[in-house]
Amino acid sequence: MKESYEIVIIGGGPAGLTAGLYACRARMKTLLLEKALCGGQILVTDTIENFPGFPEGIKGPDLAEWMFKQASHAGLEVKALEVAKVASKKGSQPLFSIDATGAETIETLSIIIASGANWNALGIPGEKELTGRGVSYCATCDGPLFKGKEVVVIGGGDTAIEDALFLTKFAGKVTVVHRRGRLRATKILQERALANSRIEFSFNSVATAISGTKRCEGVTVKDVNTGAEHTIKASGVFVLIGMSPNSGFAKGVVTMDEKGYIVCDDDMKTSADGIFACGDVRKKSLRQVVTAAGDGATAAFSAQHYVERLKGVEYK
Ligand code: NAP
Repeated sequence: MKESYEIVIIGGGPAGLTAGLYACRARMKTLLLEKALCGGQILVTDTIENFPGFPEGIKGPDLAEWMFKQASHAGLEVKALEVAKVASKKGSQPLFSIDATGAETIETLSIIIASGANWNALGIPGEKELTGRGVSYCATCDGPLFKGKEVVVIGGGDTAIEDALFLTKFAGKVTVVHRRGRLRATKILQERALANSRIEFSFNSVATAISGTKRCEGVTVKDVNTGAEHTIKASGVFVLIGMSPNSGFAKGVVTMDEKGYIVCDDDMKTSADGIFACGDVRKKSLRQVVTAAGDGATAAFSAQHYVERLKGVEYK
């Protein structure tokens, strides 16, 4: 039997959980679909220092758990399913259908896409072969495995610099390899990293190969100005070079930019009537937990009004 909802939220990170909280408090029949554990990227973030209300910062997994509990208390139904496709169905009432792995088709009057983004890979020799054997995309998950060892972090954004700082808790030496002459990360993170004696920087450098027989042993780095190559000894390589949106299931249904980020207006409306998007999957300039949560609230508010309009509810 097909299940039917007023709002289906795809993705259970801060954007999706906040959308769920607001939708349930508006008494919408709401379902949230999440392929893994709810919480999204904050599940693998050590400490979050820029979410308001926590003067000492808060552990990412704790914040994820509390967001999940708060949405659950409001009545949010959550299913562990991975969405394969969303489609628009013609009928007396505009309706969407969602195909998820191992489930009957789910029908809904509106959709909120909050599916976030996935880590990018470098695509260099040795990276794939040594993933899980020294090559990692998550410092919070794997950092403690490198006690006293030398590690390399690739990237110059917030994630790379925040994680380089985190890795100094374990590693003897952390070398940040960045392709430009200056970092992209927030100034306060840059200041901390540049002042940390355990962190070295290899600026204007790109990694060209990761080497090792059974496990990672080193990274070959090329100077972008001179072309000169050298190898940095490393038991661990953390590839932290940004993300790509997880939006493939909505291709052809909503307008996206050239990278696949979903284009929305200020009310989180996409190009398709009845479909909203929020958080890291949408095209925007600041991707943070706090902006994801704000987006989620707006998306739920817009979806609620969309559904109520369909049902003929009038606000005076
Ligand atoms: P990001 O801001 O896109 O930074 C990616 C970094 O990787 C950039 O320095 C980029 O270099 C480099 N890079 C990209 N492709 C590369 C390649 N092929 N080879 C070598 N280097 C490459 O990604 P992010 O750091 O993962 O952050 C994603 C979003 O989450 C951002 O909006 C960020 O602000 C946010 N975030 C916030 C926090 C926080 O507030 N605490 C923590 C983590 C993430 P270029 O600089 O040359 O482009």
